[in-house]
Amino acid sequence: MTTTYPSTQLLIANQWVDAASGKTIDVRNPATGQVIGTVAHAGIDDLERALAAAQKGFETWRDTSVYERAALMRRATTLLRERAGDIARLLTQEQGKPLAEAKGEILAGADILDWFAEEGRRVYGRLVPGRNLAAQQMVIKEPVGPVAAFTPWNFPVNQIVRKMGAALATGCSFLCKAPEETPAAPAALLRCFVDAGLPPGVVGLVFGDPAEISGHLIPHPVIRKVTFTGSTAVGKQLAALAGRHMKRVTMELGGHAPVIVAEDADVALAVKAAGAAKFRNAGQVCISPTRFLVHSSLVEDFSRALTSHAQGLKLGDGLAEGTTLGPLANARRVTAMAQVVKDAVEHGAEILTGGERVGEAGNFFAPTIIRQVPLEADLFNNEPFGPIAGIRAFDRLEDAIAEANRLPYGLAAYAFTRSFKNVQLLANRVEAGMVWINQPATPSAELPFGGIKDSGYGTEGGPEAMEAYLNTKAVSVVGV
Ligand code: NAD
Repeated sequence: MTTTYPSTQLLIANQWVDAASGKTIDVRNPATGQVIGTVAHAGIDDLERALAAAQKGFETWRDTSVYERAALMRRATTLLRERAGDIARLLTQEQGKPLAEAKGEILAGADILDWFAEEGRRVYGRLVPGRNLAAQQMVIKEPVGPVAAFTPWNFPVNQIVRKMGAALATGCSFLCKAPEETPAAPAALLRCFVDAGLPPGVVGLVFGDPAEISGHLIPHPVIRKVTFTGSTAVGKQLAALAGRHMKRVTMELGGHAPVIVAEDADVALAVKAAGAAKFRNAGQVCISPTRFLVHSSLVEDFSRALTSHAQGLKLGDGLAEGTTLGPLANARRVTAMAQVVKDAVEHGAEILTGGERVGEAGNFFAPTIIRQVPLEADLFNNEPFGPIAGIRAFDRLEDAIAEANRLPYGLAAYAFTRSFKNVQLLANRVEAGMVWINQPATPSAELPFGGIKDSGYGTEGGPEAMEAYLNTKAVSVVGV
């Protein structure tokens, strides 16, 4: 495989094809702003062909033994690992993250897919004792059917694997609308599955106008399940559309993770763990820590140490040696960050470091720490989705928990404390789908991954993730 940036085509019935119209969309490198390639722009006729393929693919795949499915998935992950270095270079060129992070994303993706492949072999039904002794009552799990998946640009590979892993392992076919801004890494991922020998139509890949594609796929009778990762606003629209057509849905939406640093916390650990989590992928992560709520006795030390952590990062092109913070993935994120900072300052907050765009070319924004952020500031209400951390002091842990729960989001939360009493309070009272205490985020395949409240519903990890792709059927048989 070459690492020259390719033009990306659609994947329909195991064929890589241009859009019937020949239309394409430009792809830019966020480190330079330059156009580096194109991606095919599917029209309705292309989508119809992809849907027909997904239906045929489903009919083949559901009748493939779970053992064979797992073997094919593992063959694909072997290819993914072999190609990880090359795919990482594509990912960095189109998305911006440092090369080591890109490679880490792909290897983590292979690990997640392997876990789902194995978990698919443990989708058991059950036998239920009957009231009629002559009856045998069975509960059977069946794949829900062809899945439409909508994935975003922050983790072009990993946002797909959590959905595709569960879908393929349970016997569903998988039609993905991947991000137009970062299309080559998703295509390289799906190529591993085609090259591993997956039957035609089991996986498909389209790009185009997101609203047109979701508007066509979600109501379509072939599609039986919808899964989306992205903003809460778009998620609500898609969930409403799916509801009108009675489609099963998983929604992994925005977050606004609080980090509670209690009076008895290990400050150095809190800075190391939450600082690394904050600036990973330039903060464009749904579980990125954003509201740092620090006990007033520690807030000076904590602010100084987090500022020094941010100033130690090396901002640059993700392909360059030593870069630890890449550009934002697209130009509109730079505008959004500048607005968040301006609003915080207008509300009286103090910038400790960063706060502005860096350079003329590319989408570089300095790692930014802002302190004494008023609750009314945009930074403490809307997901910044970028390299900005806001700090506020608190005196009572109950108040910090109330602040953590104030927003409609409920995805991830972090806390640092040495006391078991505090751990229990935090674990039980913080409203979030995932709570990490005294550690960075560890979203492994075997743990549930998902949110509550406006952060969505359903989970993309652990055995619960498999259930989202299964129908439950009760069969009762009386022998005659
Ligand atoms: P956006 O809301 O326009 O798009 C978010 C994602 O949804 C993109 O991948 C986009 O292609 C897709 N999308 C948009 N409209 C759609 C539609 N009608 N049908 C199907 N897909 C559609 O915002 P954006 O500027 O791309 O990203 C900014 C915001 O999105 C961030 O502030 C963040 O809140 C959210 N986001 C969240 C995640 C996540 O991991 N949860 C990932 C990316 C973006």
